Amino acid sequence: MAQTAQEILKMVQDQNIKIIDLKFIDMPGTWQHCSFYHNQINENSFIDGVPFDGSSIRGWKTINESDMCMVPDPETAWIDPFYKEPTLSLTCGIKEPRTGDWYDRDPRTIAQRAVDYLKDTGIGDTAYFGPEAEFFVFDDIRFDQTENKAYYYIDSVEGRWNTGKKEEGGNLGYKPSFKQAYFPVAPTDTMQDMRTEMLLTMAKCGVPVEQHHHEVATGGQNELGFRFAPLIEAADHLMTYKYVIKNVAKKYGKTATFMPKPLFNDNGSGMHAHHSIWKDGQPLFWGDGYANLSEIALHYIGGILKHAPALLAITNPTTNSYKRLVPGYEAPVNLAYSQGNRSASIRIPVSGLDPKAKRLEFRCPDATCNPYLGFSAILCAGIDGVKNKIDPGQSLDVDIYDLPPEQINKIPSTPPSLEQALENLEKDHEFLTSSGVFTEDFITNWIEYKFDNEIQPMRLRPHPYEFALYYDV
Ligand code: GLU
Ligand code: MG
Ligand code: MG
Repeated sequence: MAQTAQEILKMVQDQNIKIIDLKFIDMPGTWQHCSFYHNQINENSFIDGVPFDGSSIRGWKTINESDMCMVPDPETAWIDPFYKEPTLSLTCGIKEPRTGDWYDRDPRTIAQRAVDYLKDTGIGDTAYFGPEAEFFVFDDIRFDQTENKAYYYIDSVEGRWNTGKKEEGGNLGYKPSFKQAYFPVAPTDTMQDMRTEMLLTMAKCGVPVEQHHHEVATGGQNELGFRFAPLIEAADHLMTYKYVIKNVAKKYGKTATFMPKPLFNDNGSGMHAHHSIWKDGQPLFWGDGYANLSEIALHYIGGILKHAPALLAITNPTTNSYKRLVPGYEAPVNLAYSQGNRSASIRIPVSGLDPKAKRLEFRCPDATCNPYLGFSAILCAGIDGVKNKIDPGQSLDVDIYDLPPEQINKIPSTPPSLEQALENLEKDHEFLTSSGVFTEDFITNWIEYKFDNEIQPMRLRPHPYEFALYYDV
């Protein structure tokens, strides 16, 4: 992969690339893009940026102050494998054209500030993240294209997508049983070829891929793994991960979703964030405390657990996120930490005696989280813990799901809804803003955006299950 603007421009010439696709990240965490004829991008584009209208981007500018500039980062270059013509993809940061400042609401700008903040504190110089985003693959026929008729409907009792169409594919005897899909070989696992194509495509796009497998839920839940990387790079990789997965699924006539809980009564999809802090090439989480953790790591955990009720408004930012955070599905419900225990919000993976492998796994996040914002917010919470020496309390080395109710009640829980998490964020966000990583404007805008565009519209619509409950009352 090319590193500098000059190298990119030379590559465009040498490889006869006709189209340069500039991508940036909107506030909810979706890639937006605009493609340019190759001669429109020059060395200056990498400094001052390329103008575009920012008024229609979710959560950004109003129409009367809409001009913005996308500034491509030359280190994010890869050739997009889904287009017919050679197309170079570049991820951009956003600048204000009038001042030349980086835009406060741009997620990549916020992530850069979080990285700088870690260095400024003197605690560490690099935050590594390794996200594990699970997803479901479903058949891509929610609507019959010709008759414009829904084939799939939500069963009002089960809350599941059901098909009105006879199932295709012959003998269905090899269907995985309920919560038994982790991870028998073919023919029970029908998605091997698709996942392999996803993995190999991602590798071509510069993601350091590692493995793939089916996940626990009934059928169609999958996970691919890629190597951890510094915060911004890890977030960039996650964007490519989601893009490749969705586009390869589409090639197979399927659709992939990162919705945290698409199926009632089965496992949801998380995006566990493995995470460690380093300084001068040395890992800071290894030590002689609980589970070979250092004092820094324990305080860091204290910070995450203390702020989790508010933090989840960013790492679990959808109404659907909270349908996943319920007992019994390997998703965390209680705010506790433990070595090797998957029912705790923070798990310390058993990593042998290698200090470099010592890390935390924060299990709450899901992939509806904008990774730039989510990783930055986790880092801010952890730093707050280290700066204020926040005690993480006792570790919980039992299966939390099996504890009697009177003991469970003593352990703080994840918030029950997005609404509650946003209310917590309103009260507790100094750990994000006092450093300047997130601005007050960002927090207010985020809360308003979520209320107006997600919570309120959900509240206004009759829910399918209400028909089961109330139709014949
Ligand atoms: N799907 C589970 C979750 O919602 C996690 C399963 C696992 O540990 O990989 O978090
Ligand atoms: Mg998993
Ligand atoms: Mg995990």
